[in-house]
Amino acid sequence: MSKTIAVIRGDGIGPEIVQATLRVLDSLRCGLDYRFAEAGMAALEAQGELLPQATLDAISACGVALKGPLTTPIGDGFSSLNVELRRRFDLYANVRPAISFPNTKARYSGIDILTVRENTEGAYLSEGQTVSADGETAQSIIRITRRGSERIVRYAFELARRKGRKKVTVVHKANIMKTTSGLFLNVAREIARDYPEIACNEMIVDNTCMQLVMRPEQFDVIVTTNLFGDILSDLCAGLVGGLGLAPGSNIGSGAAIFEAVHGSAPDIAGKGIANPCALLLAAADMLDHLDLVAQGTRVRAAIRATLAAADPRMTPDLGGSGSSERFADALIERL
Ligand code: NAD
Repeated sequence: MSKTIAVIRGDGIGPEIVQATLRVLDSLRCGLDYRFAEAGMAALEAQGELLPQATLDAISACGVALKGPLTTPIGDGFSSLNVELRRRFDLYANVRPAISFPNTKARYSGIDILTVRENTEGAYLSEGQTVSADGETAQSIIRITRRGSERIVRYAFELARRKGRKKVTVVHKANIMKTTSGLFLNVAREIARDYPEIACNEMIVDNTCMQLVMRPEQFDVIVTTNLFGDILSDLCAGLVGGLGLAPGSNIGSGAAIFEAVHGSAPDIAGKGIANPCALLLAAADMLDHLDLVAQGTRVRAAIRATLAAADPRMTPDLGGSGSSERFADALIERL
């Protein structure tokens, strides 16, 4: 059975890493078809707008998109495209795995942490931010809802169940932010009762930062609100060696969008040396989402084997002397 996914090549290194990723996906022969769409600077130049309706339609029709990084032009009048996509498709769950791979510059090994971040409410509501007329006082509203908390915590537990994970850590600041973080924590406690086979513990966010740095192996799945999740998921990416191997999924009621955590890397764009692994790991998560779990596992195993062998065809950021395309060759050989 074939499945069509929307593919957005993106800006900067986007087209290079998308090309390498699609070659690896094609080698799996799992019946994926692509519907290409444009967004970001590429769309602005070709179609006069950053996020054309045709692109939104393609994502809606396919339900699943693989997206290269987008450059948001600096200056007034341009809102972040990623924030806009989140809003349009109600992408409420941002899932960021941090997994150790061999031969990286990471300080730790054996880490496998899934951060599930609420993506639509909390401290990041633009309409909740105001500045007084004299410019002396800025205020921001944090909004937490029972519905928003329920669906993100349930998503985290369902993900844990699907992936055979053992523990979910609920990260909060309910000792100080008693109403907002308190509501999230109370809802999380209620939801956790529906998953007796999965251990659940609670941790205050500042302690979580320290625990992640001192004993990261104690973490399995983390679920938390928007701002804390944004910060903690980058901390976790740092534990396993940074952005080159960090994928992210944005899961919503309207669609799911899979991408690398890194940006469009204008400093190396066009040189053919961008590391495609973060996008490939996102593609592996997309395969899981499409119930092609065996194929997703093969992609991750090929990346692991290529790094373990210190294959010289890897890109320079991983210590190789290859290119995005040569790296893809090395991965395809090991699929
Ligand atoms: P960046 O992630 O693009 O680059 C940071 C550094 O990491 C650079 O030195 C870059 O060369 C390196 N790097 C990133 N990805 C790499 C890869 N795959 N292989 C090898 N090296 C890699 O961050 P930035 O420079 O702050 O942002 C550039 C642009 O990307 C900005 O316009 C920003 O808005 C955008 N951005 C987009 C997304 C997204 O679409 N999801 C995410 C972050 C930033």
